[in-house]
Amino acid sequence: MAEKRPLRVVVLGGGFAGGYVAKHLFDKNLGLDVEVIIIDRNNYFVFYPLLVEAGTGSLEPRHCTVPIREFASRSELLMGEVTDLDASSNKVHFKLCGDDTVREIEYDQLVIALGSVTRILPEKICSGVTEHAFEVKHMSDAVAIRDRAVELLELANATDDPEEKRRLLHFVVVGGNVTGIEVVGELEVFVRGATSMYANIKPEDCQFTVIELSPEILPILPKQLIRWSTQKLEERGIGLWTGKSVKEVHADHVITSDDTKVPCSTVIWTAGIAPNPILQEFKDLALNSHGGVDCEPTYRVKGHENIWALGDCAGVPGPDGKPMPPLAQIAIRQAKQVAANIAAAHRGEELEPGDVSVLGILVPLGRHQGVMNFKGIRVEGFFAWAMWRAIYLSKMPGFGRKLRVLLDWTINCFSRRDYVQLGMNPNATREFKGPDRG
Ligand SMILES: Cc1cc2nc3c(=O)[nH]c(=O)nc-3n(C[C@H](O)[C@H](O)[C@H](O)COP(=O)(O)OP(=O)(O)OC[C@H]3O[C@@H](n4cnc5c(N)ncnc54)[C@H](O)[C@@H]3O)c2cc1C
Repeated sequence: MAEKRPLRVVVLGGGFAGGYVAKHLFDKNLGLDVEVIIIDRNNYFVFYPLLVEAGTGSLEPRHCTVPIREFASRSELLMGEVTDLDASSNKVHFKLCGDDTVREIEYDQLVIALGSVTRILPEKICSGVTEHAFEVKHMSDAVAIRDRAVELLELANATDDPEEKRRLLHFVVVGGNVTGIEVVGELEVFVRGATSMYANIKPEDCQFTVIELSPEILPILPKQLIRWSTQKLEERGIGLWTGKSVKEVHADHVITSDDTKVPCSTVIWTAGIAPNPILQEFKDLALNSHGGVDCEPTYRVKGHENIWALGDCAGVPGPDGKPMPPLAQIAIRQAKQVAANIAAAHRGEELEPGDVSVLGILVPLGRHQGVMNFKGIRVEGFFAWAMWRAIYLSKMPGFGRKLRVLLDWTINCFSRRDYVQLGMNPNATREFKGPDRG
């Protein structure tokens, strides 16, 4: 009699969603005899909530990553680029990193967790973003923003032209929701904190502006917290231009929707995300109007018995019927249900719908201040900031990682932030140019 082989689950993307599914598939209570293979272009995933801190010097960049082999240690990792899906023959096509050969792997069950990309508007709506703006999405972005700020401080210190100095030290953030506000809050601390080391720069030479299309910043929060955050940021001299967008990004200025020319030399683009565009190459998959994988509430992809999707790349209706938002806290909880449903499908049992909604939103504003709306409890100030740190420290996987982050934070209490330019991204040190997106 032929030996029964384990169920083979291939997981595309080893981020928050894919990584946690891979882990949960081995949960004892599921009782699965399973072989899990993760395909990811990196051998780590980015712990996004700490990425902004890594980009603004309070955390060593590598400390906001989680090694996939360590995190999902019972799974196999293929470090490579997923290129195509042939659902009719249950095969995924991919290229291993550093090798152009297209390989294929067969699956019994497939999990799609390929995440999202920064939403770049079409050129006719806003031009120049790809060429000149920085993203906050990859590890290299965090390093590039820090390098850029250091370079501009050096250039500004060497100029005696006050107008040129103001332009060099004007940082514009497009998008005033959670990521944009976190970026501007931390960047202001980083850049103004560095000025004491420069004889020719005063803190007031540095300008920070957020441009947000909605009538208010942080539209995801209740009014009381919006008002508090707005006041605190404005007191620090951060410009909040709401009800406006940007229509052109240039190397040395932006043009806003009301035709104002704003001299600046750094534009950081945090105006939304979109599901991974590789999904459009997967001809057998139905996508929703946002480009996300169209799923049943059980995470099963519509029209497929053995394909599942979750996280930022999936459109899954939540308990209120609306698509679940693209958040790590959502992806992590979705993952448990996806693993359970894969086990149920394997045994021919009934599937359970996902019942995941947002628990809370925490936004650090820099200078030990933050806002928090957690299960309806609204908190502002130091306590909200401390809660933010405590919660994300507790969520960071692995004792060693936790310790590294804690040590970085502790060192920061007693010493200056790290103003070293790492120079890993060649374009970040090129004048008036955005980062390399290769
Ligand atoms: C700056 C920032 C701060 C954030 N802060 C918070 C926060 O405080 N709280 C919160 O809940 N959420 C936060 N989020 C959102 C959260 O990070 C995402 O919702 C979460 O990462 C989604 O998980 P995912 O697995 O779907 O995607 P990801 O974690 O992005 O994982 C996708 C994986 O797929 C891989 N991949 C993509 N394409 C390919 C390919 N073609 N081939 C191989 N591999 C591929 C990537 O390498 C990656 O590892 C933040 C996001 C950002 C950008």
